[in-house]
Amino acid sequence: MKLSNSCYQNDVGMEDDPHKLTNHPSVADRHAQNKEARQSRVVQRRQMLDVLVHASRCGSPLCQYPGCRKVKGLFRHARSCKIRASGGCDLCKKMWYLHQLHARSCEESQCYVPRCRDMKELLWRLQQQSYSRRRAAVIKMMRQRAAEIAGNSG
Ligand SMILES: [Zn+2]
Ligand SMILES: [Zn+2]
Ligand SMILES: [Zn+2]
Repeated sequence: MKLSNSCYQNDVGMEDDPHKLTNHPSVADRHAQNKEARQSRVVQRRQMLDVLVHASRCGSPLCQYPGCRKVKGLFRHARSCKIRASGGCDLCKKMWYLHQLHARSCEESQCYVPRCRDMKELLWRLQQQSYSRRRAAVIKMMRQRAAEIAGNSG
């Protein structure tokens, strides 16, 4: 048996792509200043969160990490404060806020940050609550609509 090689050559015309990239003027330009301010706030918050994580595992009282001693001061305060966030203590409220922010982005199951796991559980429960609330609202709305449609057709 003999194998025969047959070669087909297809001439494929190369087409130039007529579509050219056009530059859309950015709408966000107008909000550039706002964005900048927001960005610096985001950076600040990130730094605070970094310090929070660092300070919770830092044992050195003379640590040079920027903000470390400040945050450790906050930890100390939160431990001994009698007013607490619920009583209106500004420092405790700040701590609470930072912990909440941290817990939201924390994926560490063995996290060193105090109350991180409590906070995560709390956030998770709040999320479930708001989810079921939303779902209940949607179901209610759909029932109402169904009733309306049924009413209109009758
Ligand atoms: Zn430190
Ligand atoms: Zn306090
Ligand atoms: Zn954490």
